[in-house]
Amino acid sequence: MEKILLLAHVEADGSLAKPALEALAAAKSLQAETLVVGLVGTQVEAAAHQIGSCGASRWLGAEGAEFALSRYATDAAAAEALARVSGATLVIAAGTSRWSRCLAGVAQRLNGRVDTHVTGLNAALSASRWFYRQRMEGQFTRAQRPWFILVDPGCFQPWSGPAADAAVEAISVSLASQRTSLVEFRAPRADEQTIRPDAELLFVAGAGWTKKQADGQTHVPQAAALILDFLRKTQSSLGSSKSLVDLSGEGQAVLPFLTHLNQVGQTGSTPRHPKGLAACCHGEEPHVVGWRFINERRAVNLDPNCGWAHGKADVLYVADAFEVIAKVNELLLAAE
Ligand SMILES: Cc1cc2nc3c(=O)[nH]c(=O)nc-3n(C[C@H](O)[C@H](O)[C@H](O)COP(=O)(O)OP(=O)(O)OC[C@H]3O[C@@H](n4cnc5c(N)ncnc54)[C@H](O)[C@@H]3O)c2cc1C
Repeated sequence: MEKILLLAHVEADGSLAKPALEALAAAKSLQAETLVVGLVGTQVEAAAHQIGSCGASRWLGAEGAEFALSRYATDAAAAEALARVSGATLVIAAGTSRWSRCLAGVAQRLNGRVDTHVTGLNAALSASRWFYRQRMEGQFTRAQRPWFILVDPGCFQPWSGPAADAAVEAISVSLASQRTSLVEFRAPRADEQTIRPDAELLFVAGAGWTKKQADGQTHVPQAAALILDFLRKTQSSLGSSKSLVDLSGEGQAVLPFLTHLNQVGQTGSTPRHPKGLAACCHGEEPHVVGWRFINERRAVNLDPNCGWAHGKADVLYVADAFEVIAKVNELLLAAE
């Protein structure tokens, strides 16, 4: 029987975020002799209380101001100490940027193995993930222990249960190699933040928004205003085709809030949202790969023969996206 360690980092407000609750659900879906919870953060008591009824037999905490931030040295040291003290054969963690950065190194220190981007686990202890840019799904298991498994956010129903008291054992972490310290945060202004992984809808903008329209002119400022208005009203997440984000490199008029982080597709991301709406977008990659995990897909395109929108969208509206989105924004405003 396996001994499972659920590793979770605590948010700034002391709580556990959704990806951590999903990883807990993943850990609980496996047959195990014991489940140990290992928490990392400035203070971990509130987080332990939040999941206190999850059935863990032991609670371990790597606690202190030095664990407030994502930093390889401190996160790796904390995870290593938690894994050693727990004696876990399986370590389950959310595939957050924080854990993704350090757990491969921790697996190496413990002579274990690590798998990232795991999208499913079954009780017989096989894991599944996608290969070749999300085109093939593979199922596998490993004999080597400890086995570190990072589960992709959005793949498990988050654990839910009543809060309850949990007695956390503080463990000591050796921080001999800490050399990096935080100077400042630099982040886009909040109203420019267009990537929202938890949004109901992914809105994919294509290069058509910047192309000459029926009047022979481009209308980039109008396109930007329409898209931002739509995003603010619907709180959708913004994806983009590669062509659209690449335009800035070619010195053409661009949508100022788009970066390569918005790019979906083979060389971009494959986000998970219940619904997707593409507008002014022709490409194969955004429609085939970028939308791989979107459940319900619709597209707006002037071209009824746009093969990818036609072939991969559940519904294709053959219409001018400028007119459609302006009308949708108007209806959303009326509904507010
Ligand atoms: C190795 C490689 C990797 C790649 N990886 C990616 C990737 O990860 N992601 C990606 O996106 N691409 C990728 N590409 C590029 C991809 O093949 C396409 O070239 C690109 O996606 C096309 O972008 P687009 O659809 O925005 O633009 P376009 O092909 O220019 O299409 C614009 C569309 O807008 C429509 N349109 C114009 N005006 C309107 C209007 N008013 N209303 C409605 N519709 C309108 C037009 O009918 C047209 O269909 C990759 C290419 C290569 C070679």
